[in-house]
Amino acid sequence: MKPRIGWFGSIDEMGKPDVLRRVREEMGLNTIIPESHLCHTSGFTVSPEVPAISPVEGWRAQPTLAAHRQMHKLSPEAFAVLPGVVSGWDDSAFLKVLDEAHRLEIDVWGHIGVWSYGGSVFPDLEMRDIDGKLISAGDTTWGVPFCPSKRRLNDWIAACIADIVKRYPMDGLHMDHARYAPPAAFHILFGCACADCEAEAGRMGYDFQAMKRGLLRLRQRLQTLDADRVHKALGVGIGFFDVLTALEHDYQILSWFKFRCDLLTARMRQFREAADGTGRKIDFGTDCFPPTFALLGGHCYADWEQVATFISGGFGGGVGWGGVGPQLFAAWARLLCGWSKGLPESDALALLYRLFGYDVLKLPRTVSGLEKNGFSVAEVVTHEVRKMGLQKTGKVGSYPPLVLNLTPEDLERVCDAVAESGHQGVIASGVNLGKREMLNIVRDKFQR
Ligand SMILES: [Zn+2]
Repeated sequence: MKPRIGWFGSIDEMGKPDVLRRVREEMGLNTIIPESHLCHTSGFTVSPEVPAISPVEGWRAQPTLAAHRQMHKLSPEAFAVLPGVVSGWDDSAFLKVLDEAHRLEIDVWGHIGVWSYGGSVFPDLEMRDIDGKLISAGDTTWGVPFCPSKRRLNDWIAACIADIVKRYPMDGLHMDHARYAPPAAFHILFGCACADCEAEAGRMGYDFQAMKRGLLRLRQRLQTLDADRVHKALGVGIGFFDVLTALEHDYQILSWFKFRCDLLTARMRQFREAADGTGRKIDFGTDCFPPTFALLGGHCYADWEQVATFISGGFGGGVGWGGVGPQLFAAWARLLCGWSKGLPESDALALLYRLFGYDVLKLPRTVSGLEKNGFSVAEVVTHEVRKMGLQKTGKVGSYPPLVLNLTPEDLERVCDAVAESGHQGVIASGVNLGKREMLNIVRDKFQR
């Protein structure tokens, strides 16, 4: 099968004259995932009966909108960052790109978001942390997710999917934001803990209150770490299971993270069934957190493969594969050092690197070094691409994310790792016809 070479990018860019043909020629492009920074989907309209059942259709009148706009630095004409497809957009730009792509025999995967942003616009649908507080009441650096257990929201998203799959001759659907917040956001790791999620946990066979006790115990233990013991532990080669043994006696924190994965997988199954229910067979998948951190963000790759036809990876500040790990290490080390007096950053980071299997890389030994990007993004991405190669079963498409703003040498290195790890292609972002050399590297690597 021909490797998939996808482009996740701006629909405005894709709609410029002759751009798709030229990117096809220079990069071997055969799939596009267009996105508008104004409506946050590929630019769909919806049938009138769909907004009629939407719990977020009234977003324009929400008193919480101004703070949300500020949080995401949205321009005045931009829609709020919400799940599904809200009404009021004109789909002519998308239709034009769809036609042109199909004329060039390029697949089109439509793009919509799900839960991980926009929750604060609708506090009654927003995620809650383990203390019962709305996420927007605390640190909002990582966005404010919706709760994934709000039936009205999920049923409406399913209706959006059925509607757009029926009406647009797309070849696939790329569901974005189908995740919890990046696991660097420690406080959000312990959510959603609302009553609806508790009820779902019960239905799925989990003991929510036991998990909650386990999480509170974990938090308390982490907040009282003994710096000397951490240092000694590093010296004797402490590993993941040692930490688990030291922290817990009933392993409820493992159940918690599996519960979160099961919850998202069940919802993705509902969405997949909505797409399949139209009678059209299209590709269906999402970007996932990089394998090392996937379980903490709601993604169990093995389960995800049961409900998707492909898995790719995220781009950008919060979920880009080069940043998820370093951001987590910096944020967690800062927390641990703040809680444990006398714990040096170098010990906190050494512990985290070891537990997540990053001690084989050359990452900085200080938080500021991580935050100032004092490491090789290509090395981090390559690391995750290789791990993804070991995790995947080959039953569904596996397309690691490829950011094209690397040096040519680094791009070659990531492409080599993708090819050697047996993936079926890549999804690229940062496509720029002014840098043909970069596009040619991708083409030549995967079209041989
Ligand atoms: Zn919830």
